Amino acid sequence: MERSTIVRVHEGLHARPATRFVKLAKGFESDVELVKDGKVVSAKSSVKLMLLAVKENQEVTVRANGADAIEAIEALIGYLENPKAGLDDEDSPPAGNTGQDAAAALPAVAGATTGLRGVAASEGFAIGPAFAHFPPDIAGQGRRLQVEEVAGEIDRFRAAVAAVQARMDRALAQDSLSAGDRGIIAALRDIAADDSLTGESEGLIKGGNDAVSAVITAASTIAADFSAVDDHYLNARADDVHAVGRQICLVLLGQDDISLETIAEGAILIADDIGAWDLARAPLKRIGGVVCGHGGATSHIAIIARSHGIPAVLGLGDQINALRTAREVALDGNSGRVIIDPDAATRAEFAGRVEAAAQERAGLAIFKTVTPKLAGGKVIEVAANIGSLEEIEAAQEAGAMGVGLFRTELLFMRHMHLPSEDMQAETYAALAKAFAPYPVIVRTLDIGGDKPIAGIEFPDEENPFLGWRGIRMCLDRPDIFKRQLRALLRAAGHGNVKVMLPMVADIGEVRQTRVLVAECAAELKAEGVPHAAFDLGVMIETPAAVLIAPALANEVAFFSIGTNDLTQYIMAADRLNPTVAKLNDVTNPAVMSAIEMTAKAGVAAGIMVGMCGEAAGRPDLIATFIKMGLTELSMSPASIQRAKKTIMAMAAEGAA
Ligand code: PEP
Ligand code: MG
Repeated sequence: MERSTIVRVHEGLHARPATRFVKLAKGFESDVELVKDGKVVSAKSSVKLMLLAVKENQEVTVRANGADAIEAIEALIGYLENPKAGLDDEDSPPAGNTGQDAAAALPAVAGATTGLRGVAASEGFAIGPAFAHFPPDIAGQGRRLQVEEVAGEIDRFRAAVAAVQARMDRALAQDSLSAGDRGIIAALRDIAADDSLTGESEGLIKGGNDAVSAVITAASTIAADFSAVDDHYLNARADDVHAVGRQICLVLLGQDDISLETIAEGAILIADDIGAWDLARAPLKRIGGVVCGHGGATSHIAIIARSHGIPAVLGLGDQINALRTAREVALDGNSGRVIIDPDAATRAEFAGRVEAAAQERAGLAIFKTVTPKLAGGKVIEVAANIGSLEEIEAAQEAGAMGVGLFRTELLFMRHMHLPSEDMQAETYAALAKAFAPYPVIVRTLDIGGDKPIAGIEFPDEENPFLGWRGIRMCLDRPDIFKRQLRALLRAAGHGNVKVMLPMVADIGEVRQTRVLVAECAAELKAEGVPHAAFDLGVMIETPAAVLIAPALANEVAFFSIGTNDLTQYIMAADRLNPTVAKLNDVTNPAVMSAIEMTAKAGVAAGIMVGMCGEAAGRPDLIATFIKMGLTELSMSPASIQRAKKTIMAMAAEGAA
């Protein structure tokens, strides 16, 4: 018995929807299969189902054979046809795929053996004993089993799988686990429980292979299948399969993986990559610094490091091998410099910096609760730039007066499919709630072809920074944009949500957005979904936006100057190209005059003018910006207290 249908599950049968589908299928006694393009797989294996790479709007056939075949087909077709059923928010990138794209976007620069350079992913200085975390490869015993040994070996294998599942269940039960980590571990657990890995391994054991060899072979075969699928995110699941296979083998061998739990106080963690499984169990409070071969500024480890104030240099590539035998490591998370076994002078230099930073931190702590005011009583809002809910705590600890830039890219990059409206609404609402009554400014998706994300096909472009990115892409993909706008309207009920558009170059972009916002609000009203209006602002980060600032100011509630992009576009100097780094200078008179023009236009129209580019946190420039009329400065949490101190000093000098 079979029935065909068009899949309406959002973004297809990716990880969690596949797991849900399997759970449903397993509830029936009948054999159930899913057929796509002539390929038939068991509907009771989430791995096999994922490998079928079923996408939204494709035709599939559900086939069932057994006593409850009718009910099974009914239920499974119902799931596939109900678009809501596929919206899953727990998905996270697989372990082992933490930000490799970001690393590729920001390649490590080769350095001398004693002074390597990687991506400066979390600021601060650190020096300490090296803790090398390079788990060894596991080899099978390569022993042929006697027939009478097979049953015992299968029992041993099943016990090992059960132990791994139990370990993952215990990890999932921890209250302290972030939503992201929970999603990653849940995905690993699904693989550990899946018939593909266990079935394939048992088949090999029955064929006379020892359990460890069987698991290695089975995991490699399944991982190779994942690697062969034409889908970037499914490819990355190969690492999940290897990670699970490794855990099972370790139990079989009676070995423990090198555990991060034994890391000494203040040690520098050195690894090629740190999987989510390790990270979720690592004693972060004890780690002095992190150096990794993989990863970049937006990878999972970078976010965790920043939110815990751990200096980190990532994306070292093969240079990481030079650190395998290091005894002591010094790292500069501001410039991306890593020094192996530093000499006495370097050691003294770093120890001095670490000490100075600690002293500065202690001295600045009193500014956490300060509301900086100018001599005339005007409050200057010092807000935080963050990109995930994990960073809220660090921002609050620093004393952030709200969020001046919530970069939503990470939300899209972390998942294996486009994030659903529900998931986005929950995220924005959690952000709003955390900082109320301070405002939180959420920036709509600012992404282009240089950072691919699941669910959006970017064209190959000669100049991605001048291409289809930010508001341009969003307006061309109203399906994606409206989902984000609807989520923002829903979260706006909290009263402190503001929204800003990136890369605006034409007033039409703001007007088109307003039309979409109105459409979304009307839809939500018709659906009876609670929502509220939000203030709409724009980032001023293109020369065009500066030149039309007076007109823009009449159409929006606020400006936020993005000096990172504004500098690169005004100076025509790629912000990632070290060869033209000298030109990439916000203090160049051309850029400063663009900032001044923007401020003038905003002030004249009576709207708020803020800044969320890196320059906002520079103590040497803050007074100039405030004199131009800026009243909000948003920066990395680490700069907040210093900025508040600078403003207070300015006020003490009597500046208005
Ligand atoms: C900017 O361009 O200044 C900015 C804040 O945005 P991003 O760095 O995310 O491009
Ligand atoms: Mg920008």
